[in-house]
Amino acid sequence: MPLQKIISVVIPVYNEIGTLPVLTERVAQVIAQLPQFQWEVVYVNDNSSDGSEKLLPQLAEKYPWLSVIHFSRNFGHQIAITAGIDYAQGDAVVVMDGDLQDPPELIPEMVELWQEGFDVVYATRQQREGESLFKLLTASLFYRLFRKMSEVKIPLDTGDFRLMSRPVVNALSQMREKSRFIRGMVSWVGFSQTSLLYERDKRYEGETKYTLFKMMRFAMDGLLSFSKVPLQWITTLGFIISASSFIGILLVLYQTMVLHDTIRGWSSLMVVVLFLGGVQLICVGMVGEYVARIFDEVRQRPLYLIQRIDSRRMSNTASESLSEEIQLYDHSYSES
Ligand code: UDP
Ligand code: MG
Repeated sequence: MPLQKIISVVIPVYNEIGTLPVLTERVAQVIAQLPQFQWEVVYVNDNSSDGSEKLLPQLAEKYPWLSVIHFSRNFGHQIAITAGIDYAQGDAVVVMDGDLQDPPELIPEMVELWQEGFDVVYATRQQREGESLFKLLTASLFYRLFRKMSEVKIPLDTGDFRLMSRPVVNALSQMREKSRFIRGMVSWVGFSQTSLLYERDKRYEGETKYTLFKMMRFAMDGLLSFSKVPLQWITTLGFIISASSFIGILLVLYQTMVLHDTIRGWSSLMVVVLFLGGVQLICVGMVGEYVARIFDEVRQRPLYLIQRIDSRRMSNTASESLSEEIQLYDHSYSES
């Protein structure tokens, strides 16, 4: 009998006590539908304080496939997902929200596409129910702005609800940057990705756990981690101001030297102010360019990721077995 594949489901949980029983029940039903796999569900409790922290261990007792990771403090949604992915052992890992906005019933379809050979199956929302107009507007604006500004193209209207294959999960766990924008990072990884349309439900219960402040931080993390455009704006602005100040300087000189109708000291002051303003912005932009490069370095992302190697010498799965092979190779080399 072939080895049973493992599927992990990672769910961040922050004060979702009203949803947890229903959520777990619905996940259990999905698991029962696909008994050919071995299942593992990982709840990451992001330091809840509404009783979820007490309910979760009880659920883990009841369901053998359930594990719970408890955080020491609130680290936020993206870090909770990261911890869950790090912990998960699956050949495929599904990430979904814990408020039932992402219906678990979509998982079998994701698994099917994964078995057809896709490495990432992300769920794109066709419709969003029960969100405030403000959220809809800002989210839509954000995704479109991100698309314009970032070198990495992320799919529009797609959250973190997705399935990832083991090679993608391994790649993701090599990326240890602190400000994490996981949907961008998954796009950056590459591999074969496909989408699945779904209708995003209302929150089952309770309020959004993303405060306006958290939302803004998240948007900043996304834009600044994946785009150098704001920095380039400074340099461009510097050049524009310098160029126009040059024209200004000519005008001031014309007034002083030809028309003789200015107050003493005004022209020299204007010349200096205009000139320095432009120069300063250009310099800040230059410094920014270096900061951007330092930023690229400190993130310590892998330079490249290998999806597959077709060769007689090496096994052709993921980069993981590749590095094993390289170590083996190095070993035999040093011995001879
Ligand atoms: N969440 C979390 N830590 C936080 C905020 C949210 O783990 O600090 C979880 C939350 O429990 C939910 C998911 O992240 O499972 C998405 O949060 P929410 O539904 O509040 O965000 P929205 O859908 O409104 O964007
Ligand atoms: Mg939600």
